[in-house]
Amino acid sequence: DAVANRMERLTDVASAKKQKFEEILKPLYLGEDKIKRLMDVMEEQMKLATSKDENTRKKSDILMAVTHVRCLLQGGENGDYLGLDLGGTNFRVVRVQLKDGMASTTTKYYTLTEQVLSGPCAGVFDFIAESIKDFLQQENLINSDSKIPLGFTFSFPSTQLALNSAILLTWTKSFKCPDGVGSDSVQLLEQAIARKAPGLPVDIVAVMSDTTSTLMAGNYLDKKCRIGVILGTGSNAAFVEHLENIEKYGGDFKEPKQVLVNVEWGCMGDSGCLDFYKTEFEKEIDQHSNHVNSFTFEKSFAGMYLGEFVRLVLVKLTNEGVLFNGHVTEELATRWKFTSGFVTKIDSDKDKETTNTRNILEKLNLSTASDEDIAIVREVCDFVVQRASYIVAAALAVLIRHVNLPEVTVAIDGSLYEHHPKFHNYMMELISQLNLHTQVKLILAKDGSGQGAAFAAVAALRQIEENIV
Ligand code: BGC
Ligand code: MG
Repeated sequence: DAVANRMERLTDVASAKKQKFEEILKPLYLGEDKIKRLMDVMEEQMKLATSKDENTRKKSDILMAVTHVRCLLQGGENGDYLGLDLGGTNFRVVRVQLKDGMASTTTKYYTLTEQVLSGPCAGVFDFIAESIKDFLQQENLINSDSKIPLGFTFSFPSTQLALNSAILLTWTKSFKCPDGVGSDSVQLLEQAIARKAPGLPVDIVAVMSDTTSTLMAGNYLDKKCRIGVILGTGSNAAFVEHLENIEKYGGDFKEPKQVLVNVEWGCMGDSGCLDFYKTEFEKEIDQHSNHVNSFTFEKSFAGMYLGEFVRLVLVKLTNEGVLFNGHVTEELATRWKFTSGFVTKIDSDKDKETTNTRNILEKLNLSTASDEDIAIVREVCDFVVQRASYIVAAALAVLIRHVNLPEVTVAIDGSLYEHHPKFHNYMMELISQLNLHTQVKLILAKDGSGQGAAFAAVAALRQIEENIV
């Protein structure tokens, strides 16, 4: 089987070690049965979450939030729009100038410090307000007479009340503010603007998840795009749904009879429905994470956790004498020190190349690693990454099946998908094994969640104009 095949690749490793390796790695293996079960669970969760009945909805871990975004870009649009993107490692402000439907985009990145991330949340929003001001100065828009429509990508689970109103349910990823939950992110931003940059010429017309904005950006690139996925610090997806498929839908049924739905799959499994594949490693990651017992699905594969996953496996292998002469260095023992960027680097070594792997091991004070150690470390990274890609691809496949079209393009944004050399291929590998009746294309929508926020502002204006709610 898959684990045994990996063993064969470790030709020079002594057989006693190989046996240990196999024992430790075996629980990570996700066979066809587990993949199928994961897909069934997700389908069930989606159905429960869209029910008309509140108690039924509560049985689902995921949100299936109706975003109120009904329109995609049609082509031919004009004007100046702003997008904000908050949620991962970088905060960005983008300006999108549309001329006859062609977008030119200017982006500026701002880094949030640990201190700001720890809250109180007014500090996060003050930082955003000041960044917008800085950006508008740079773009010579600060004295603009008319307010510039702004779309705000706010990538945390929220209850979407209207296009420009969303109540935060919980912080995730590296955001640890003690407050903010229960507040409207648009109001928080408006208050911060009033505090830090009063009179700023912006009009916040839409707030959305990064998946929604990525879908908007993907659809701009490719009209067949019906699904947006984030594979970065965290993970999630959104898709274009027919109104009549959403039992709980409460808006109007005007054309277009569709709305973007934000799945919020990161929290799938919080009730235990995915425990059947969870390993000791995932449980340990969760117990030491910022948000314990929550967002357990993404802890198996998202960028914030993937490196830690690999580190825990390496520590176990070392403690069992398979690696590094049984010696766990202080660096290797340090939680979160092994980032998903390390995994990306290691997996970027091609064939017999070992330069990247050696560099990373040096950072962990493991420069004396043997060739055998290197081979095993690379095998572990590849295995954890393949598993991660399969898990996310299985979830994606459920959406593809649900969308049910002959051809679908999926737009993906996020550092993990963008930089990791194998994620794309492994995802495609699983998708083709599943024999979906859809021709699937996965495309990178680089910085899509920023640009797409501005596109959502375009959609919002159109919906206001045509009174589509
Ligand atoms: C958040 C989602 C977001 C995803 C990707 C998750 O942790 O809950 O809202 O879309 O990360 O950024
Ligand atoms: Mg992001």
